[in-house]
Amino acid sequence: MNASHSYIDLHTHKPGKPGVKSLQNIFLSDFEKFSGTKDQLLSVGLHPWRVRGQEDPDLLFQQLKFAAGYQQVAAIGETGLDKSIEMPLERQEAVFNIHFEVSEELQKPLIIHCVRAYQELLLLRKNLGATQPWIFHGFAGSAQLARQCINSGCLLSFGPAILKDHNRAVHSLISLGIDEFFLETDDSGLDIAEIYERAALLKQTTVEVLRERIAERFHKIIIQE
Ligand SMILES: [Zn+2]
Repeated sequence: MNASHSYIDLHTHKPGKPGVKSLQNIFLSDFEKFSGTKDQLLSVGLHPWRVRGQEDPDLLFQQLKFAAGYQQVAAIGETGLDKSIEMPLERQEAVFNIHFEVSEELQKPLIIHCVRAYQELLLLRKNLGATQPWIFHGFAGSAQLARQCINSGCLLSFGPAILKDHNRAVHSLISLGIDEFFLETDDSGLDIAEIYERAALLKQTTVEVLRERIAERFHKIIIQE
């Protein structure tokens, strides 16, 4: 085993800490003034909560493609569909589709925020003929839904929800193979090590094994080295 495997934090809104390789989410509107370190990996996108419904599609495409073209930007997003907000789904979908186009053009995966719209997104993936990985972050759906997502070519990332007992995310995580998930802190401010410890306990393995396996998949699938 390689001791140099860092913790991978698949989705966070905070800068990385030592020993953690994190994919830090930057909102597109903040990208210009963002001044991270050169080795910080980023994802950039227009979050569904920030969709106003009046975006000019061509302009958004140009802005997103420009930002996403930076080498540090390893993924596009978070973008997605959220049925818990007032913004009509069609308008969210129009913005999502632009992220999809940039993802395919630049060959970078999509980080997806999804609230009660999994079936819509899985159908979209099929209809759009996506070739890039789509990663549902903060997954907290059922084990059955988890399997459906994976069978559709999507990836899952679990966050702080797994720390709670009797959470659906816990049951889903237990149902998956050790090479079928990523872990994240999202906007919790928690230490990613805490999420790994809990996941290792649930998967009856060690943190070291999880670190190794997740890091390998991260480099292969997300960074596409
Ligand atoms: Zn987030």
